Amino acid sequence: MTDTTKKIKFEDLGLSERVLGAIYKKGFEEPSPVQALTIPVMLRDDTNIMAQAQTGTGKTAAFGLPLIELINTKEKNVQALILAPTRELAIQVSDEIHSLKGKSDLKVIPVYGGQSIDQQLRRLKKGVHIVVGTPGRVIDHLKRKTLNLKDIDHLVLDEADEMLNMGFIDEMEEIMKYTNENKRTLLFSATMPAKIKSLASKYMGKYEVLKVKKQTLATNLTEQIYYEVKVSDKFEALSRIIDIEEDFYGLVFCKTKNDVDNVATHLAERGYDTGAIHGDIAQNQREKILGQFKKKRINVLVATDVAARGIDVNNLTHVINYSIPHDPEAYVHRIGRTGRAGNQGTAITFITPREYKKLMFIQRVAKTDIKKSKVPNVKEIIATKKKMINEDLIAMNAGEVKDVYFDWAKKLLEFNNPTQILGNLLSYCFDEELDPNIYNEIQELSGKKEKGRDKGRAIDVDGKSRLFVALGRKDKMHAGKLVQFIIQNTGVKNKKIQQVEVYDKFSFITVPFKEAEIILNRFQRKAKNRKSLVVRAKAK
Ligand code: AMP
Repeated sequence: MTDTTKKIKFEDLGLSERVLGAIYKKGFEEPSPVQALTIPVMLRDDTNIMAQAQTGTGKTAAFGLPLIELINTKEKNVQALILAPTRELAIQVSDEIHSLKGKSDLKVIPVYGGQSIDQQLRRLKKGVHIVVGTPGRVIDHLKRKTLNLKDIDHLVLDEADEMLNMGFIDEMEEIMKYTNENKRTLLFSATMPAKIKSLASKYMGKYEVLKVKKQTLATNLTEQIYYEVKVSDKFEALSRIIDIEEDFYGLVFCKTKNDVDNVATHLAERGYDTGAIHGDIAQNQREKILGQFKKKRINVLVATDVAARGIDVNNLTHVINYSIPHDPEAYVHRIGRTGRAGNQGTAITFITPREYKKLMFIQRVAKTDIKKSKVPNVKEIIATKKKMINEDLIAMNAGEVKDVYFDWAKKLLEFNNPTQILGNLLSYCFDEELDPNIYNEIQELSGKKEKGRDKGRAIDVDGKSRLFVALGRKDKMHAGKLVQFIIQNTGVKNKKIQQVEVYDKFSFITVPFKEAEIILNRFQRKAKNRKSLVVRAKAK
């Protein structure tokens, strides 16, 4: 088993200048642990690889970047097939590889059920190098002979455990038959149950296991919460957090240099005292910004993980994970910057609905408790601002106010109503600051559909997961009985189980993400190495 080595640079991994250029353009500063492990091995020789990695750890680039290096774009044939359990993942993986290809002529397309097969046919005919597909649709193309896998050099099984959980084993085995013997197989899986290992030994022969080394993690006094927000609402959420705090003093972590620049520029435009640090900012400039932050001349510092590494500031009130960190180690490292030396701090992580699973993984490994909370609403912020103004006004010592103001006040009150005058004065001073219209609306995620690509997707929307239960009417199940069955086996509360649909051989239920994790884990454990009775529903 290979172990991870930390603090490796992209330049150390054997990637070409061209690919390095594309990586930096995308704004990645340093490889994530799974990338540091996988990329050199993939570029070294054609060893089969089994890597343990969750979604969100950068695993797509871990296999995508070497593929970009290795594929011969002068040829027109398909050279790599990436199998993914859901169409959503297939699109995501294809988009990510596309965004990393830089100036290369590499063609990558997603193929998945639900999209017009003709459109896919046309694109396949034109010649593509990487196909990212869901098993069912890949088989359709193979049977129609519109996809030829005879010459592929790489087969990637992405989220292999999910594919098995979703019952794709027959499809996976069938697809393998269409491929050649000499290809290299790469298996990525969040978990490594026995069934994954037996799949690997059956189809991969010899393989290398890559596993990111786990560290002992300890979190501190920090209160940890998360908000589920759309990407487009993150900035508004950040502004509200800063505004509702009396003395916000915090670090905002973003994944890429580009994100850091965007967030910091936006904050400055809205009048916050802010600074940005990342790898492209010259050392002396970084030190200058850090100096200002330490002296609290700026109270919001936006940074990448790399740039923030050397920061030695103890008394932060907040750490904001504007983007969820790659792995539990990074999470603990980030939030360790607050709550030090007996101070209570708050760590807030923004997640989009599809990042929920990753957050739960971080929570599990970091052995910590991250509670769901709501972005402060505008009324609360205005009320807090008023409270602060009141406190400031009341706390001002008479000695601090020059005599001319008292004389002025006396004159004004001689002929005017005091309430009226004070009201006018407050409005004159604070109208702008207390105007609710400076805030933009934030879309509540629970109970509403996400727009765009996710529309109509059957699973993992609205903070909820749709689960498939392998019991139906033939097993004498009806809705009430099924709910009882789930409750008895998992302890999940009745009201959390919704949209119960019972069919002849199977059923569906919809539950919030948290309960879905509990239910899936309990049933997986009960099933041991057999197929679990409850799995995530496939996308429709
Ligand atoms: P994945 O695990 O492949 O789904 O990636 C999760 C997210 O991390 C994607 O938005 C990637 O663009 C991003 N990402 C991957 N590698 C890096 C890196 N080295 N630095 C910053 N962001 C990255």
